[in-house]
Amino acid sequence: MAQSSEHKLTDFIRHSDRRPLWKQLLSASATRVDDISATFEVKRAEIQRVIERYPMRVNSYYLGLIRQKNDAIYRQCIPSLEEVISEEGLDDPLNEEAMSPVPGLTHRYPDRVLFLVSSYCAVYCRFCNRKRKVGRRSMVTPQTIKDGLEYIRNHSEIRDVLLSGGDPLMLDNKDLYDILNELRSMGHVEIIRIGTRAPCTLPQRVTSELAAMLSNFHPLYINTHFNHPDEITPESSLACRTLADYGIPLGCQTVLLKGVNDDPVIIKTLMQKLLTIRVRPYYLFQADLAKGTSHFWTPLDKGLEIMAGLYGHTSGLCAPHFAIDLPGGAGKVPIIPEHIVGKDDAHLLIRDYQGQVHRYPLMRRK
Ligand SMILES: *Cc1c(COP(=O)(O)O)cnc(C)c1O
Ligand code: SF4
Repeated sequence: MAQSSEHKLTDFIRHSDRRPLWKQLLSASATRVDDISATFEVKRAEIQRVIERYPMRVNSYYLGLIRQKNDAIYRQCIPSLEEVISEEGLDDPLNEEAMSPVPGLTHRYPDRVLFLVSSYCAVYCRFCNRKRKVGRRSMVTPQTIKDGLEYIRNHSEIRDVLLSGGDPLMLDNKDLYDILNELRSMGHVEIIRIGTRAPCTLPQRVTSELAAMLSNFHPLYINTHFNHPDEITPESSLACRTLADYGIPLGCQTVLLKGVNDDPVIIKTLMQKLLTIRVRPYYLFQADLAKGTSHFWTPLDKGLEIMAGLYGHTSGLCAPHFAIDLPGGAGKVPIIPEHIVGKDDAHLLIRDYQGQVHRYPLMRRK
């Protein structure tokens, strides 16, 4: 079925279908070459070759955000031959598997763990750093969830659990409830975080029923993932408002992507718009060195330039931490544009946001 991006959401809804809207939109996903070849005039054999290695799924809501071929939305979700022609990069750039005491759970930092609870996403992002395994049934199983929960229960130093995947909101409310309920029965788990792209890529998933269910497990935080101002729509705004109204603090983890958002004006606009939908920018990541994603990589200077365009030029709330997740699993390191440009006996030389240098006394004790 070829779908024109001009179709309205309602075109996908059959009135006899009683499933929730988000499930209907997901069933109408583009997953095969045929689903996109007519609309975007792609080279069929090329796309076929890519999706045999890395699955495609673009649900009909997100597909509808594409205005034209190769725009910022298109590049994030439509497969490109570049994914398979370059062998540059690493399968597991953050060494998550070696740092997993049980499959699907990564314990890298002292007090918190990353816990994968779903194999699936509403869109398979072409730049994904877990693209080697998302969309595969074996990524997360009932057994890995059971083992992960048991690990957390037995490790009282874990005070912060990050649910991720895949996308945790691809689970049904009941399955998610069961996991959250288990976690909340462990006295040492102080906070729960959910990392999900659903508010951006399938905002219809965020119903009041879901938000009300999640609000039973406070303090619960959601970090979502918007990469471009065109992703902020009436639907995604409503999803974020629904979560915020249920007391869930919202953060955003954006990834810097060549040809999508590697531009100071785009990022500034995105960060400002996120605040209008009650989402606080949290991280801006340098893209991980994952195999199949090298066409998205940007020079490190680009991120520094973008950050220098935020500090002082717009609200401090708009400035996320610009960070590299070090290859090999050494963790996230914030990278900050240089503001201290020198030092004399009694002063630091500090550059302000407009480039003027000021002397600031060191105030050393005599
Ligand atoms: C990113 C990440 C975390 C969380 O890091 P914060 O800086 O606390 O957001 C925890 N564990 C792993 C393995 C991670 O990759
Ligand atoms: S939603 Fe997240 S985990 Fe899923 S494909 Fe996109 S980046 Fe990867």
